[in-house]
Amino acid sequence: MISPVLPTYARAPVAFVRGQGARAYTEDGTEYLDFGAGVAVNSCGHAHPHLIAALTEQANKIWHTSNLYQMPGQEKLARRLIEKTFAETVFFCNSGAEANELAIKMARKHFAALGQPEKFHIITFEGAFHGRTLGTLAAGGQQKYLDGFGPKAPGFDQVPFGDRKALEAAIGPQTAALMIEPVQGEGGLRSVPPEELRYLRKLADEHGLLLIFDEIQCGVGRTGKLFAHEWTGVAPDIMAIAKGIGGGFPLGAVLATEKAANGMVAGTHGSTFGGNPLATAVGNAVLDVVLADGFLENVQKQALNLKQGLARLKDLHPTVIEDIRGQGLMMGIKTKVLNTDFVKAALGQHMLVIGAGDNVVRLLPPLIVNDADIAEALKKLEAACLALEKKDG
Ligand SMILES: *Cc1c(COP(=O)(O)O)cnc(C)c1O
Repeated sequence: MISPVLPTYARAPVAFVRGQGARAYTEDGTEYLDFGAGVAVNSCGHAHPHLIAALTEQANKIWHTSNLYQMPGQEKLARRLIEKTFAETVFFCNSGAEANELAIKMARKHFAALGQPEKFHIITFEGAFHGRTLGTLAAGGQQKYLDGFGPKAPGFDQVPFGDRKALEAAIGPQTAALMIEPVQGEGGLRSVPPEELRYLRKLADEHGLLLIFDEIQCGVGRTGKLFAHEWTGVAPDIMAIAKGIGGGFPLGAVLATEKAANGMVAGTHGSTFGGNPLATAVGNAVLDVVLADGFLENVQKQALNLKQGLARLKDLHPTVIEDIRGQGLMMGIKTKVLNTDFVKAALGQHMLVIGAGDNVVRLLPPLIVNDADIAEALKKLEAACLALEKKDG
């Protein structure tokens, strides 16, 4: 008999009823160290007092109005995002896939509005993950997710990661944009080298293409800058964000330059729930926290702590750990054992970590972690390694 909830997830046999900072608790009070943060969503940790205050204050005023009316919360959040980024305009939605859908639509409409509707192809990169809608599945191009859902949506050309020759060969009169995650999340925590992102910018400019960054996972402070591409000195024309900006409340956004957004006039896109008063109240509160003095510096400091500890762990446990990768508080452990076995071993130590592609285990702690949290995480990961070695030996 089918389960009451559609069985599309392989869920771990544990449920959390409460959280505090970097820790989550089951009904019986068992504590887990949460280094998954709900897949990089709980940027400010669980039960952050400033987020709770913002949400409850808004909940006492008005929950939902409609994008048929003025939205002061959206305007405030848009202005703040614009002030801190390349962007000149922002659209709010509810999730990552929706943000990418608009990024794709915007790139296509850009050229259509310029009288070049034949330019609707987007070039993406192997190992990419852009979401689970029919459009973003085609963009991600992963066969295992596309299988059985009918023909792949047209207009996406995929090239191997880091293969400049293949990329240049793929650009044609039909190409509208290049689309990439500055740090790959689901695909296995591969960080795009800064010189590679600069090269993509240059290539896009030479060919008159738009550059789209998917910072849904790596954005909003995760790498120690507000957005990951800030480390490289280049900016996209369009950027999708979600996950961390809502701090646990569903919120996504597309940031764009005026030039890229030229085709998006009234009636060309919409969302019933997108950027509703509750969501943007929390989004604004998340920015208060992440942009506070010293916050991103602490992310950088803890990222270094974690990276050094992981490097040591790799040296001590070469039969379990093959490689450490990633950037900031978005680290990957490429394991020699099955990554799912490592996730289970960590769960056995009451620590939450998340699997990714390429047999990688992802560490995505909330951005509020301190020295003690990182030390405890490294201890639990060490215990997980020992347990896995014992099992093998
Ligand atoms: C999670 C994710 C998405 C999809 O976001 P949803 O909110 O699950 O639709 C898209 N791109 C990247 C890089 C992601 O990490």
